[in-house]
Amino acid sequence: MNVNEPVTTTTLPVLTSAPSGLRAILELPDSELVQWLEGIGQPAFRAKQIRRWLIQRRISSFDQMSDLPAALRQQLAASFRFSSFEAVGHQIAKDRTEKLLLQLQDGELVECVLMRDPDRRTVCISTQVGCAMGCVFCASGLLGVKRNLTAAEIFEQVLVLHRLMSDDEKITNIVVMGIGEPLANFRNLMQALSVLTSDDGFGLGARRITVSTVGLPEKIREFARSGQQYNLAVSLHAPNDPLRTEIVPVNRNIGIAEILDAADDYHEVTGRRISYEYVLLSGINDQAQHAEELASLLAGRTAHVNLIPMNGVSELVMTAPQEPQTRQFVSILERRGIPVTVRKRKGADIDAACGQLRLNRLDKG
Ligand code: SAH
Repeated sequence: MNVNEPVTTTTLPVLTSAPSGLRAILELPDSELVQWLEGIGQPAFRAKQIRRWLIQRRISSFDQMSDLPAALRQQLAASFRFSSFEAVGHQIAKDRTEKLLLQLQDGELVECVLMRDPDRRTVCISTQVGCAMGCVFCASGLLGVKRNLTAAEIFEQVLVLHRLMSDDEKITNIVVMGIGEPLANFRNLMQALSVLTSDDGFGLGARRITVSTVGLPEKIREFARSGQQYNLAVSLHAPNDPLRTEIVPVNRNIGIAEILDAADDYHEVTGRRISYEYVLLSGINDQAQHAEELASLLAGRTAHVNLIPMNGVSELVMTAPQEPQTRQFVSILERRGIPVTVRKRKGADIDAACGQLRLNRLDKG
């Protein structure tokens, strides 16, 4: 999250590049994989076997799919890429947070992060190349948005981090808080989440997945009707519209009232408590009056505030407030009965803030 020198930087050997021009195997819909198998005289059930290897197991090549005939493994390797991206950067922080810089087939870059706590392993994944939202404190939006990630490019980030972990570790939580606005890539996001939650996919409970949004009301309402209990986090960052529009420019055409309405609807439909994220920016949105106003806004709602002291971004002049200012903000919310936590810094010695690693790499050309 700081722009200090990383502790370790390696290029992962586990993701060697396949012959160029081939399609990544996970980009194939099931029906196409079955068709391909039938075309080479293989039974359809092999498709399930292959997907199980790719999604549930920690392997790094087709050759390791030990219950497939050797000839089929060779045909797979000759016909498809094993992965839809290559890890071109790998940083490990002192607290064992790990961050990967991934290069997609068209050369674009995205990031994903593995965070370790004593009782949980959380991965943070990206949904777009860049971001169009333009939040003034965020590294991801500085260069705009290039394109949406495909569903496979989204869920494979979880798989590649899963492969980095030791056999006795498993992923307990997924946060969709990496580069991009997830609800602006709704269809691919939903497809990716269904692979991550389904029993014949990655099999993680929907309640262990959190999608963070800048606040797109129509999409929040659609998301509420997914039939799943995903958690919703709304990036609020300010308690009134003039200030929010300064910090989050897309707010100009939306407004806080609409967002809260949609978030209330999300809570009613799914029963999940809503998280409101609030990045503390020194001298901008961290004053006592802001905390009071935020408390009034959220009073009576099933809400939780997640305060995030801003992570430094070298291109930007904004900073996190000093400790006492943060404590004052917290105590005002607490006094008003609003549940609040201050997000712990993870990977402080690597470029773990949203979009920073990609930005640094692009800066260096
Ligand atoms: N577009 C979505 C998800 C990606 S950002 C959203 O806006 O929620 C995920 C979270 O990281 C958001 O709450 C965002 O405000 C926060 N974030 C981005 N840059 C940050 C920075 N420099 N310091 C602290 N938090 C940051």
